[in-house]
Amino acid sequence: MKYVSTRGGGQAVNFSDILLEGLARDGGLAMPEIMPQVSADMLEQWRQLSYADLATEVLSLFITDIPKDDLHQLAHKSYNKQAFGSDEIVPIKKLDDQISLVGLSEGPTLAFKDMAMQFLGNIFEYVLAKRGATLNILGATSGDTGSAAEYALRGKKGIKVFMLSPFGRMSEFQRAQMYSLQDENIFNLSVKGVFDECQDIVKALGNDLAFKEHYHLGAVNSINFGRISAQVVYYFWAWLRVTSQSDEQVSFTVPSGNFGNILSGHIARMMGLPIRHLVVATNENNVLEEFFRTGIYRPRSAANTYATSSPSMDISKASNFERFIYHLLDSDGTKVKALWDSLAQQGEFDLSTMKPLFEEKYGFVAGMSTHADRLATIKHEFEQHGYLMDPHTADGVKVAREHLEEGVKMLVLETALPAKFTETIQEAIGQPAPIPEHLKGLKNLPQRVDVVDCDVEVVRKYMQERI
Ligand SMILES: *Cc1c(COP(=O)(O)O)cnc(C)c1O
Repeated sequence: MKYVSTRGGGQAVNFSDILLEGLARDGGLAMPEIMPQVSADMLEQWRQLSYADLATEVLSLFITDIPKDDLHQLAHKSYNKQAFGSDEIVPIKKLDDQISLVGLSEGPTLAFKDMAMQFLGNIFEYVLAKRGATLNILGATSGDTGSAAEYALRGKKGIKVFMLSPFGRMSEFQRAQMYSLQDENIFNLSVKGVFDECQDIVKALGNDLAFKEHYHLGAVNSINFGRISAQVVYYFWAWLRVTSQSDEQVSFTVPSGNFGNILSGHIARMMGLPIRHLVVATNENNVLEEFFRTGIYRPRSAANTYATSSPSMDISKASNFERFIYHLLDSDGTKVKALWDSLAQQGEFDLSTMKPLFEEKYGFVAGMSTHADRLATIKHEFEQHGYLMDPHTADGVKVAREHLEEGVKMLVLETALPAKFTETIQEAIGQPAPIPEHLKGLKNLPQRVDVVDCDVEVVRKYMQERI
C-alpha cells in the first residue's frame, strides 16, 4: 500500500514515511492510493477477535511495510487492560432501544484521542529505532489531542514533543492533565491565540521545508494518517458488536471538530463496512454542518470562532475535510489543488452542484447543537437513562436523535468522559462529574508550561533553543 498527496504532487510513498512526515510536501494530506476492501466473509471471521487482534487485521491493510507479527505486538502493547481499564478496550453502552454509545474514552486521558495515540506512540518508537532516527513532534491542540499525545509519547526514546494550546481556552482539568507532566521530552506552550491560530503556526513551520528537515519535525494531530488508520478500527469493532448479520447497516453520529474521527468512519465505509449514515455533529462552530447542508464551504476566521462548552470542537478550518473532498472529486489531486487555491483567494468554495452525492454516495448528513442543547441533553439523559455524558458526546446524542430511522441502530461515539468538563456538568445537573479515583490529586500537582505570543517566529526560536 502506497500513499499519495490530496494535492497530487510528489511520489507515492510508504506508510512509515507518511507516519514521520505529517503534511505532504505539496501542502496536501496523505491518502491511501487505493482503498482496501473488506468482504462479508472477512467481517464474519473478525467477530471473535479481541480489540488488539482486530486492530492488527485492519491496520495490516494500511501498513504493508511493517511485518504483521510486529504490528500484532504493537497492537497488543497499545490496546490492553492496563491502558484502557478493561479487556473490552471499547465498551458499547446502550442508552435506549436505538442509541448506543461507543466507549472510546477509557484510556489514560479520558478522551477518544487515546485510541489512536497509544498506537502512534508505540509505532513511532518502533520506526525510529529501526531507522536510528529522532523526531520532534510539533502539534496544536484544542485540549484533548495534546494530552493524549503527551501521555502516549512521554519518556519515549528519540522523541520530543512541542505542544501548542490556546491560552485560556481549555478546561481546568485539561490544563492540569497536560501541564502537570514533568517528563523532560515534553514541552507545553500556551499560545495567546485560539486553536486555529496555533494550528496555523504548526502548518507554517511544517511548510518551511528547510526547518522541517533540519529539525526532524513530525506531526501527531489528526492530519497524521497513522491516527486516521488506527481510528478506522473502532468503527469495525462497534459494528461487529451490535450486528448479527454481515449486511446489517448501522449509522454513526460523530461529534466533530477537525473532521478526523468521522473521516475514519468514511474510510471504514469506503472499505465496505455496512454504514448507512455518517452523521456529522457540530457545535455552534458549524462550518461543516453548513457545508453538508448547503454545499458551500466557508471557513471562519479565528475571531469568528466561538469559545463554547464543547471546546474540543471549536474549530472553523477542519484539516481533514480536504481528505473527504479528495474522494468527492474522484481522487483527482489537480482538482483539489485548484479548489484550495481558489479557497485561499476567495475565502470559500461552492460545491452545491455535488450536494446530492454527500448523502447518496457517501452517507453524510449533518446537524448542530448549541450550549442550551448540550445542557438539556446532559440533563435529560442523566435523568431518563441514568447516564452522565460529557458535553461533546451530548452534542452527538442531540444530533443523533434528529437522525434516527426505523430499524437502523444508531451508534454515537463517546469522545470524552464527563470528568474532563465538570464545569459544564455542574451547570447542567447542579453537581460536578465524579472524578475517577486515580485522577483525584491531579489539580494540585505542579504545572510545567510556558506562555508565549501567537507568533511563528517566537515558536521557532523556542524550539531551536531546546532541540
Ligand atoms: C478531538 C475531539 C473531538 C473532535 O474530533 P475530530 O477528530 O477533531 O473531529 C470531539 N470531541 C472530543 C472530546 C475531542 O477530544
